[in-house]
Amino acid sequence: LSPVPSDIEISRGQTPKAVDVLAKEIGLLADEIEIYGKSKAKVRLSVLERLKNQADGKYVLVAGITPTPLGEGKSTVTIGLVQALTAHLNVNSFACLRQPSQGPTFGVKGGAAGGGYAQVIPMEEFNLHLTGDIHAITAANNLLAAAIDTRILHENTQTDKALYNRLVPLVNGVREFSDIQLARLKKLGIDKTDPSTLTEEEVSKFARLDINPSTITWQRVLDTNDRFLRKITIGQGNTEKGYSRQAQFDIAVASEIMAVLALTDSLADMKARLGRMVVASDKSGQPVTADDLGVTGALTVLMKDAIKPNLMQTLEGTPVFVHAGPFANIAHGNSSVLADKIALKLVGEEGFVVTEAGFGADIGMEKFFNIKCRASGLVPNVVVLVATVRALKMHGGGPIVTAGVPLKKEYTEENIQLVADGCCNLQKQIQIAQLFGVPVVVALNVFKTDTRAEIDLVCELAKRAGAFDAVPCYHWSVGGKGSVDLARAVREAASKRSRFQFLYDVQLPVVDKIRTIAQAVYGAKDIELSPEAQAKIDRYTQQGFGNLPICMAKTHLSLSHEPDKKGVPRDFILPISDVRASIGAGFIYPLVGTVS
Ligand code: ADP
Repeated sequence: LSPVPSDIEISRGQTPKAVDVLAKEIGLLADEIEIYGKSKAKVRLSVLERLKNQADGKYVLVAGITPTPLGEGKSTVTIGLVQALTAHLNVNSFACLRQPSQGPTFGVKGGAAGGGYAQVIPMEEFNLHLTGDIHAITAANNLLAAAIDTRILHENTQTDKALYNRLVPLVNGVREFSDIQLARLKKLGIDKTDPSTLTEEEVSKFARLDINPSTITWQRVLDTNDRFLRKITIGQGNTEKGYSRQAQFDIAVASEIMAVLALTDSLADMKARLGRMVVASDKSGQPVTADDLGVTGALTVLMKDAIKPNLMQTLEGTPVFVHAGPFANIAHGNSSVLADKIALKLVGEEGFVVTEAGFGADIGMEKFFNIKCRASGLVPNVVVLVATVRALKMHGGGPIVTAGVPLKKEYTEENIQLVADGCCNLQKQIQIAQLFGVPVVVALNVFKTDTRAEIDLVCELAKRAGAFDAVPCYHWSVGGKGSVDLARAVREAASKRSRFQFLYDVQLPVVDKIRTIAQAVYGAKDIELSPEAQAKIDRYTQQGFGNLPICMAKTHLSLSHEPDKKGVPRDFILPISDVRASIGAGFIYPLVGTVS
């Protein structure tokens, strides 16, 4: 329709087909799905075993140029592209998307189901609750948080005998010690590897974790932006005997458990990752893990349904997996490895799986390659780089675009000069993708104010910068048929051999890995570590975590650390203010500048 109705009107105007019909269409067996209501189903991991000899389809990543705070349409392009491939070119395809958090959904950003005639439906079910995965993460996260404080209380207020009686079931439940636990046993002078051979005295010694409360990094979480819980005091009841401390609530999707869910490839692997999560240090500086607290089994059982990807559909009835939604700053910002793996089998060798990376390509795509593809072993075939005339004009010197403020005339009227000047950001993001050896197709997401001359200029400059192809897309206003050119270009690019390579070797020292990303990807002159960041790097390296990939927590609004520096900032020194680690998920995350 013209004018295009609101997203919610479009979403409600289409009746989704029953999810069991969709499941059958894409080759799932009846006992491989668990139906939630009428339009959502979980898909069992057993499908991977059934299809293990099936060749994978082509793997496409949708990334973007440095965006405005309004978003440049990566989700809509992802959905428009699969609608074009399947409904208009008759090629099997699957979109794999992140599950949105209730935080941004009720904030300025809004939901993440796409927009216009490129959406996942029903929108409310996509954006809220889905099948309860975020609730499961919240439950598991908070169980672990409760175990930490309770353990400190018990260790400090109970006799050895009482503590032994309380903890022996936890230790006896351990079938195998983790490497971190073996190191701790050694330090305690217990030279044993079989949990069943520990004496009562050794169990008491081993079970006493001696957590240093000031080192606790594990926070409670809630999927609501409740600012009054950002800093709280816990343990104020009489029964907690004065063991009160300052703590905080984070948004649920920032939990490390979300990143674990996104990166795992099986139930056994998820259990091992959950067990490895480091929550604090003991008084001698050694890491304390979920395994040490004896809660790994409980966390796993709470997450046993969340691990199964959620099947939904686009407006045009093509399949979508919505699974996991780690943030793109303190985590890697990509949907789950498991959804991608299952989808790649289901589409068949000639089919396409299109997934999306958070933020601009300098962040989301870099992490997709260096963290997600390293964890999954999957090889990407094509990068679709989303650009808008609006964001390019901002990079060319147009007024800073702010959410909630009407766009100035530079954005509503033709301005060739601003577009030409702003294409430097597009060129830089194309070059970043090329560092990884993957062909780039630029998708110009067309808005109704864009002019023919502006559109042609962007496509011309993108091709000159080395893009395999560059095409305007109209899926937002007309659905999949508006992105058939993009689908053709992606199919053509995917027929070339991928020369995919990682940017760095994980065995390099942590500082070298950070510097490589800063210089090769962001274009920084160098990095500058705060004393705190250096001390953390030394500690993680000494604890044996130095060989993990790096997950930079940087603003997405600039290639540099300063959100107002648009285009391609040069000659800047990237400040690393702190460094943290998600050991279970499997990355170290430096905090860049003042990112919060
Ligand atoms: P991203 O995934 O990059 O954050 P989205 O795909 O969520 O961006 O799009 C952000 C918002 O912009 C959505 O509300 C969407 O409906 C709107 N939008 C995207 N493309 C267009 C377009 N071509 N014309 C008008 N609005 C659009």
